[in-house]
Amino acid sequence: MADSLDIIADEIAVCTKCTLHQSRTNAVPGEGPDNAQIMFIGEGPGFHEDQSGRPFVGASGNFLTELIESIGLKREDVFIANVVKCRPPGNRDPEPEEIQACQDYLDRQIELINPKVVVTLGRFSMARWFPSARISRIHGQARQFGSLLVVPMYHPAAALHQPSLREAVIEDFKKLPDLLKRPIVAEESTQDEPDEIPDSFEQLNLF
Ligand code: URA
Ligand code: SF4
Repeated sequence: MADSLDIIADEIAVCTKCTLHQSRTNAVPGEGPDNAQIMFIGEGPGFHEDQSGRPFVGASGNFLTELIESIGLKREDVFIANVVKCRPPGNRDPEPEEIQACQDYLDRQIELINPKVVVTLGRFSMARWFPSARISRIHGQARQFGSLLVVPMYHPAAALHQPSLREAVIEDFKKLPDLLKRPIVAEESTQDEPDEIPDSFEQLNLF
């Protein structure tokens, strides 16, 4: 049977691949349409997400929704997921082995949705594409990975309480509409060392 977001969510709901399953109330597979052009990838469920089974529904979720709406999109139009699908106890950082155990679900979600743009929120999702980068240096800078544009951004929970990060994430979001307008780039342009790409469509036309 062909893979689907529902199949993935059903597997996540009963997954025991890492110890986070022991303390979860609900797994949080992520939500959004399977043809979303843009995916936001956070860290892992917090208290409210664990209670409801939905991603980004607490304070940082409200801020993320505001950011999404600030660029004329609706939350229902985007896919929102996390690196780990079950809440780390006490909201501690996810461990490398938990991220590893959970990675296949996120890989399948990305493959199925095949978005144009992935926005990583915070360092755990950023590390998948930019393993040794510092977020303070690279936030807001899109990079091409095959047909995917990946844009690292600050996590809304951090940005919520720190005015300078809040400004940065608001500014970084403003770049997304132009990135979404880019024509889809052919697969064969995949490179080990992706070239940095300019962050506006106008600049891209110069190439
Ligand atoms: N923070 C995250 O990283 N993900 C959520 O789903 C909620 C808060
Ligand atoms: Fe499975 Fe991921 Fe939950 Fe761990 S966090 S139990 S790997 S769904």
